[in-house]
Amino acid sequence: MPRALVSIIIPTYNRSAMLLRTLESVKRQTHREWEAIVIDDGSTDGTSRLFEPGVQDRRIRYIRQENAGVSAARNSGLRAAHGDFIAFLDSDDLWRPWKLEVQVTALQANPDVGMVWTDMEAIDSRDNVLLSHYLRKFYTSYQWFTNDTLFSEHRRLPLEAIGAVASPAILHVGNIFSPMLTGNLVHTSTVMITRSRLEAVGLFDESIKPSGEDYDFHLRTCREGEVGFLDVVSTSYRIGGADQLTKPQNAVPLAERFVRIVTTALKRDGDRVDPKYRRLIVKALGEGYAWAADENLKMGHVGKARRHLAHAVRCDPRNIRIVALLGASMLPGKSAGYLRTAYRVAKAAVRAAMGGGMHGVDSHPPVRRKRSRRADAAAASRYAGLTWTIRRLPQKASLIVLTYHRVCDVATVQGDPHVVDASPEVFERQLQRLKRTWAIVGLAEAIAHVSSPRSRGAVVLITFDDGYRDNYEVAFPLLRSAGLPATFFLTTTFVGSAVWPWWDRIAYAVRNTRRLDISLGTGEQVRFGSTPEARLQAVRRLLRIYYGLPGPLAQAFVDDVEQRCEMAAPLDRRRFLDWGEAKEMRAAGMDIGAHSHTHPVLSRLPAEDQYRELAESRRILEQQLGCDVHSCAYPVGGREAFDETTIRAAKRAGYRAAFSYDQSGFNAAPWRNPFCLSRIEVGQGVTPDLLELRVALLSTTGRMHV
Ligand SMILES: [Zn+2]
Repeated sequence: MPRALVSIIIPTYNRSAMLLRTLESVKRQTHREWEAIVIDDGSTDGTSRLFEPGVQDRRIRYIRQENAGVSAARNSGLRAAHGDFIAFLDSDDLWRPWKLEVQVTALQANPDVGMVWTDMEAIDSRDNVLLSHYLRKFYTSYQWFTNDTLFSEHRRLPLEAIGAVASPAILHVGNIFSPMLTGNLVHTSTVMITRSRLEAVGLFDESIKPSGEDYDFHLRTCREGEVGFLDVVSTSYRIGGADQLTKPQNAVPLAERFVRIVTTALKRDGDRVDPKYRRLIVKALGEGYAWAADENLKMGHVGKARRHLAHAVRCDPRNIRIVALLGASMLPGKSAGYLRTAYRVAKAAVRAAMGGGMHGVDSHPPVRRKRSRRADAAAASRYAGLTWTIRRLPQKASLIVLTYHRVCDVATVQGDPHVVDASPEVFERQLQRLKRTWAIVGLAEAIAHVSSPRSRGAVVLITFDDGYRDNYEVAFPLLRSAGLPATFFLTTTFVGSAVWPWWDRIAYAVRNTRRLDISLGTGEQVRFGSTPEARLQAVRRLLRIYYGLPGPLAQAFVDDVEQRCEMAAPLDRRRFLDWGEAKEMRAAGMDIGAHSHTHPVLSRLPAEDQYRELAESRRILEQQLGCDVHSCAYPVGGREAFDETTIRAAKRAGYRAAFSYDQSGFNAAPWRNPFCLSRIEVGQGVTPDLLELRVALLSTTGRMHV
């Protein structure tokens, strides 16, 4: 196959500091037949000096134009391009060296495919990886699809040389025009398009400003036929730059544009829409109208907001948020201010539906702020009376299960701070809020309620995992004075001990080491950075690696991390509640369940070991406490942490119910399978307002929404 020329289109505006690094990542490409076209969109920061004669690689061309926006800049580049394939790259993003080679191979081997895109990771201004596999987080329409449902074919690629990076080297191929109408799925800096597809699609629409143009372009690309997705990270996408943030006055046209793009496409290409996606598209459109209404309200355009809201209700009459908000807008004497406040509750969920996918630019501040925005929305909802209204709606017959790990001041924690769910003050206020509306029940009653077809209304079960000492010292007294029961799932080897569980050991080592990076046994490099946030990112990354390891390797992995960090946690004090304390809690009406013997990820163990973990912890608990232990919670507990084998082992070990940790939290009665009851983590940053709103939405709609 002849070596194909790739034209790389790089629009830039005042990014001279980042641009050189971006170009470095281009020069390192293993596919060497390329031309890069940098279109300087009227920069005033001296960008032009980087391209004085003789400074740059001859393959890099520089075009300067008056500032006209990113679409006009990309179009200038497209008109100047000679390549058989065209790739786009934003001037602060980075590529992996094999990026072009893999995509050229994919397109040459699959001539029916007109465009290939890939996954990406999010990096900060110093190239620290904030989130890997960021595509699905940024473009939230992915919540509705998997590679299997989105694509019709999964083709193997001839990629022996780079199989390691793209393994398994699968190109997912399909016509995704209909799914794309629920929101964008394609990120521009990861795209390579063929010349012939580009000719069918045409240029970027320059009237779409200041963003959203990419969604329109990719939608048109997908309209013209098959496209392909490589599920590997080829691109590092820089987030958090101040100049990337969406300005509020731009949000109204942006929201309205999404609605317009989708309604226009439905009118023009209605016959191309796959009927099986029609409902989902209309639902997403409803969210889009609600978003447009929200942005109009912020600008004080009440009449326009109500018109959008009326459309939103027509699209999705069962969306409780939209209906409640429309109802609020109809109340006599309520001002636009009331309505605006009420709307804020919808915002988090609306944004989740449209996400960056529609915004195109980074309307997402760093992930950390997400919770506080939700907390703001919950506070507004309470203030506006919306939470009060939802609490009084009819409840579904169900069991809602909340999970805590630790209740303490997070500043005092030397291990993994992610397992601290609330401070003592917040926990106490959460309990007061919950007991005002819901029946907080003990374990036996919870299981009876969820098992019976005659149950009415929602009940709430409060659970604790692992048995940290603060469960006894802090949570237990607060529960007792509130008169509420809770269930404590204990890991039997932890009881009364000073051990640090693996997540705390990894966190302690990484947070305290003097080293700035380590390379793992696999050769993988982990950078720690110097800020506490960067360290916590590294902790999360290592924990994710741990989850994926088979049992025996997992233990060795923790030892290895400690050794390489030259830092290990001190065994200086008791960290878990002891048998005497457990007995005292039981005597005061608390329930005790099992949480395995040593807290492994059960699904990574052979069947017999899974059984032994579950049976041994039950036997010891019953022996020590002198009572029947009939329930357990799977350690870690997400969907990957247990499987059919685990469920069989739990049944064989004599349990009658088992809890997972899958973050839905809602169990409709009667529940068919009491061996995967779902729970939600309460989580840090969840204010009493937010927890109350979540439980209210769960108990009335079955979903958390915010
Ligand atoms: Zn646990």
